[in-house]
Amino acid sequence: MESGNANHEVETTSGITIKGILSLLMENIDADSGKRVVSLGMGDPSASTCFRTTRVAEDAVVDALQSQKFNGYSPTVGLPQTRRAIAEYLSRDLPYKLSSDDVFVTSGCTQAIDVALAMLARPGANILLPRPGFPIYELSAAFRYIEVRHYDLLPNKGWEVDLDAVQALADHNTVAMVIINPGNPCGNVYTDQHLKEIAETAEKLNVLVIADEVYGHLAFGDTPFVPMGRYGTIVPVLTLGSLSKRWIVPGWRLGWFVTSDPCGMFRNPKVVERIKKYFDLLGGPSTFIQAAVPQIIERTDEAFLEKNNDTLRQTADICCGRIGEIPCLACSDEPKGSMAMMVKLNLSLLKDISDDNDFCFKLAKEESVIILPGLALGLKDWVRITFAADPSSLEEGLGRTKSFCRRYAKQV
Ligand SMILES: *Cc1c(COP(=O)(O)O)cnc(C)c1O
Repeated sequence: MESGNANHEVETTSGITIKGILSLLMENIDADSGKRVVSLGMGDPSASTCFRTTRVAEDAVVDALQSQKFNGYSPTVGLPQTRRAIAEYLSRDLPYKLSSDDVFVTSGCTQAIDVALAMLARPGANILLPRPGFPIYELSAAFRYIEVRHYDLLPNKGWEVDLDAVQALADHNTVAMVIINPGNPCGNVYTDQHLKEIAETAEKLNVLVIADEVYGHLAFGDTPFVPMGRYGTIVPVLTLGSLSKRWIVPGWRLGWFVTSDPCGMFRNPKVVERIKKYFDLLGGPSTFIQAAVPQIIERTDEAFLEKNNDTLRQTADICCGRIGEIPCLACSDEPKGSMAMMVKLNLSLLKDISDDNDFCFKLAKEESVIILPGLALGLKDWVRITFAADPSSLEEGLGRTKSFCRRYAKQV
């Protein structure tokens, strides 16, 4: 099958990273307006006072550092105790046990993404990515010369994967499909049943599943988080994750690339050798951060994790409530997880706003409020709002967005 028009139309977004577009928006802010900048654009929860990591994690790093045992290089695939702790952590939610050998320690989930794509790249290969999605995948695919084909997430079905589209897009050169669950940018949490259908579809197409679970367990709605690895018996799964979001330490750069593959497809010595060699090239995260991981995972209070989910539920509610008061904005679905949601722009209610980009740039200039244009994620005339922010910032930012929209409202 040809790549189709769908591919070409997203070319407009290629090369744009979230960080890139956010810095353009920041440049557009009017510094003389006297308005405090409210950023609901970037998914770094540590910027908000209501999201703080736990003392347990800080102490674990201090202990590891002061022990003076972790000033040297670690094995490039990660410290053995770190790999073991991550294997045990992820196995808690699986019907089988992962071994330390399944776990490779990376510099955040970002590097795990790049490792996955580097391992799968070969001439002619293509990969199926969600739209809207997370642009790091497109960026990594571009560097690896992997052709990108987008399948849609369905806004009216809780942003589920359009499995018919997946079947239509895949061919014998398709190496993998990517899912992000809980989802950024949509705030979706997939049901167990949907994950099983994804696994069955991927198995039928003979492609593996890359499961980005960087928001694993950050599910605060009525759908519990289920790891894709649960269906590793149906299809090989590469599970990607990190401490960044659940422990609110994105700057610690501690992530993982995990083969959730009880049938052992990845245990082919040649494949393992190739992965190991690639890690020799990477260097991995700081040894003392790695050394802190067993303590962080074992000693973190359930109460800390629950409180974060309670806070996210509360800030997501504030977000939906305020958006509900703005006629030209609509959230198709209450977010159930992660830290972001997609909001639809009804441009027919606005004058002098041409599209989502125009909306976001004018909002930045006139109100000092930063939100991300959907086009950066492949979805025109939507915007992404990050609700991992202090309630007061959300109220302030969305309050200003409301006055902005009122100012641009078409007179009827
Ligand atoms: C934040 C994020 C990442 C990157 O995680 P790091 O651990 O900070 O590198 C990867 N995927 C998604 C969907 C994310 O939102």
